[in-house]
Amino acid sequence: MVNRDDSGSAPDLTGTFTKLSASERRWAWVEVDLEAIRRNLQRFRRHIGPDVLIMAVVKANAYGHGAVEIAKKALASGAKQLGVSNVDEGITLRRAGIMAPILVLSEPPQETIQAILHYQLTPAVHSADFALALGEAAAAIDRVADYHLKIDTGMNRVGVHYADAPDLLRTIDFHRGIQLQGVFTHFATADEVDTFEFSRQYERFLTALEEMRYMGINPGIVHAANTAATIRYKQTHFHMVRIGIGMYGLHPSPITRSMIELYPAMSVYARVSMVKPVPMGDGVSYGMRYRSPGNVLIGTLPLGYADGISRELSGKMHVLLNGARLPQVGSICMDMMMFEADQRTSASRQTIQPKVGDEVVIVGADGNQQITLDDLADLLGTINYDMACRFGERLQRVYLD
Ligand SMILES: *Cc1c(COP(=O)(O)O)cnc(C)c1O
Repeated sequence: MVNRDDSGSAPDLTGTFTKLSASERRWAWVEVDLEAIRRNLQRFRRHIGPDVLIMAVVKANAYGHGAVEIAKKALASGAKQLGVSNVDEGITLRRAGIMAPILVLSEPPQETIQAILHYQLTPAVHSADFALALGEAAAAIDRVADYHLKIDTGMNRVGVHYADAPDLLRTIDFHRGIQLQGVFTHFATADEVDTFEFSRQYERFLTALEEMRYMGINPGIVHAANTAATIRYKQTHFHMVRIGIGMYGLHPSPITRSMIELYPAMSVYARVSMVKPVPMGDGVSYGMRYRSPGNVLIGTLPLGYADGISRELSGKMHVLLNGARLPQVGSICMDMMMFEADQRTSASRQTIQPKVGDEVVIVGADGNQQITLDDLADLLGTINYDMACRFGERLQRVYLD
């Protein structure tokens, strides 16, 4: 028996264990194909032509794909700027040695201004209070802080109202501690069939830009397009496009599928951790909401809702094993889920005999079968953005170059 008090040395947490890859440490992992990121950005480059800048949007840990790795690959594949949603995300990138411009896409709390200056992040600005506080802090250390003005043209989320943008600029533009480096807006309906609201936002943005120029203010880098607008509306490209979901190989909506070819970068895998026959009528998992119909093998996978597989998918989703689709059964647990391999002979399907250690596809392709993030999102009544972010929560990532 180990006497912990007398052992004298701490257990080795840094040795061979950390040299194991994520897929060896735990039998559940996310695989990210960095080559897909490069190919997707190449597709966007072809789509927008040589002169428009690309901002790679890597907020929310790069939609679950891993912010540092994706940012590096995106910059090596032609992106010139990075977009994040808060200061912490920007600091993570700087600490990883990334020097490219990083835009914080909405105005952060004033408390973050020292960190913004220290890490040379570029904040979005939509209030005079923030802009002047930033200017004072920068001027105090003889610096000029860049900012992008965010204009709300109709989404009513963040940004200065389009009609108030000239007034805001009149209030802050004089300050020697800040410099307007760009102006942007965000579309609420660029991925919708109906184009009415999109057109209204676009027109309002043009009007705001015109007024700024009339005031003698150079708007700098003008940008408006997310993935959907980049694909659908050339007139929104201006000087830069902000590509998020498309870089990851996912479509913002079914409308864009025929307009550009993209390659999903994320797959999710697990290995079977236990297999057992469950006799007819016996239940499986919490609540025993699934009962064995007879001659089946139940396989266990070591991932669950804490890894992004929502409990609401219980009994609705499938997994792929040896090219076959097998139903997930019973309630999905925090850390595990079960699937059924029917052993009764049938003319219409293969009989699969799972073994401990077999690799199972949760998201991805196997033979001529495929399960996409869109498939899982549809089962949940949500969107692929939401699904991708969930898988970034606890699963470690394995990168393919
Ligand atoms: C998230 C975000 C984007 C990227 O949107 P996608 O639809 O993923 O391309 C662009 N701009 C802003 C302001 C965002 O918040």
